[in-house]
Amino acid sequence: MPNPSATPFVLRIARWFGSACAGASRIRLACLASLMLQGAPGIAPAATPPASDAPTAFVDVNVLPMDSERVLPHQTVLVRDGRIEAIGPSLPVPRDARVVEGRGRAWLSPGLADMHTHADTADEMKVYLANGVTSVLNMGEASNAFMGQVRPAIHAGTRPGPHVYAAFVVDGSPRYGHLSVTGADEARWIVRLARTNGYEFIKVYNDLSPEAFTALIEEGRAQGLPVVGHGVTRVGLARQLDAGQLMVAHLEEFLYTFFADPNRSGDDPSPDPARIPAAIERVQRSHAFVTADLATYDAIARQWGKPDVVAGFLGWPETRHLAPQRRIEWKGSDYARRKGSLDENRDFLRRFAKALSDADVPLIAGTDAPTIPGIASGYSLHEDLRALEEAGLSRYRALSTATRTPGELIRRALPAAETFGTIAPGRRADLLLSESNPLDDLSTLRKPLGVMANGRWYARADLRKLLDEVAATYAGAAMPR
Ligand SMILES: [Zn+2]
Repeated sequence: MPNPSATPFVLRIARWFGSACAGASRIRLACLASLMLQGAPGIAPAATPPASDAPTAFVDVNVLPMDSERVLPHQTVLVRDGRIEAIGPSLPVPRDARVVEGRGRAWLSPGLADMHTHADTADEMKVYLANGVTSVLNMGEASNAFMGQVRPAIHAGTRPGPHVYAAFVVDGSPRYGHLSVTGADEARWIVRLARTNGYEFIKVYNDLSPEAFTALIEEGRAQGLPVVGHGVTRVGLARQLDAGQLMVAHLEEFLYTFFADPNRSGDDPSPDPARIPAAIERVQRSHAFVTADLATYDAIARQWGKPDVVAGFLGWPETRHLAPQRRIEWKGSDYARRKGSLDENRDFLRRFAKALSDADVPLIAGTDAPTIPGIASGYSLHEDLRALEEAGLSRYRALSTATRTPGELIRRALPAAETFGTIAPGRRADLLLSESNPLDDLSTLRKPLGVMANGRWYARADLRKLLDEVAATYAGAAMPR
């Protein structure tokens, strides 16, 4: 394994910030100097919402505000300048408003959020939108083109897609392919650089040293970039939560750095259900959020040692909207070559997720799409909701993980940011219109009548068109078989 400290720190970080930094080391150093002083060229902080040309009125719709388990029948919802302006049973509709008629037979919910993705292309963002997903949190390794061009264009309203939050991932060794820091000074510096480049979170990874972890927490607090992410082996989730880590991503991190029996190792840590209350107590004390990625762990368990299962995933109709390079990643993933079974862990995580929900720990939907075989961008969020319902959560609680609770996470993390995740005046106008009540059947959210993202309305035909564009692009780029 290469020693991270063998490469000068400035050259290690050159790979991660600024595509203009490719080339000779002297150029990279010059480029880095400019990053340190003024941020990457072309990388702007999240833009303000676009001014819509005209207000939109949803007339005679049944509203799920998602502030509590209730439905408000026969409402008018008025949207102006990217925000929800008013809700009421008999609001006057402005003469210049675009009207979306519900006729009492359409249900309006907050747009959905997938708070753990690795998707980072303009095409993938269209697929999210077509699936009703209006907010995503990119959890690491977003390309410079995405951060510098695609994300600002979406936020400015010149490209279709969800609002994108982004975490910068930091590790203590290069073995998983992430940027690694060797000590506290480098860790602090990375937080400042991530902030300069428009990231909202720091994502911690397995091999960080305790000193670097503490420095990330402290500098993150000073710079307004909360720490989220994995269990760090040499720190352990219990201490990470006590130190102020805002979110654990993902649920299985508890298997490795909380429930693990130190006398056993590998993929079978044999979690002890008797320790679930202790884990819950620890999370409650820290007021942290937990990513509930049950569908993802389930997909991994299903393909563990079973190449046929991955071949089956690649035959799904949704894979028309899976980029050719993602197909190659799915085919090459090594889960299918592993030995043993994850079934016991999967069952444990279902039980753990239900116990966390019962204890009112804020659970957040997140899928790790599209890097895990079987976890397609957009579509997998609906699988996550289904898995949470199967684990015993009520449909309201399951839907909260993808609406209200992600909104609360962002409000805690970024107090000055726009709010989303419930339907109320002042919220970002991220909405999903469905044919039936999601609280009766969550799968109605898979086929939206239309989606509004940041005040921009996409009717079902518009969403279909976005998907067809993506499929055509990918079909044209497909490798010969
Ligand atoms: Zn991930």
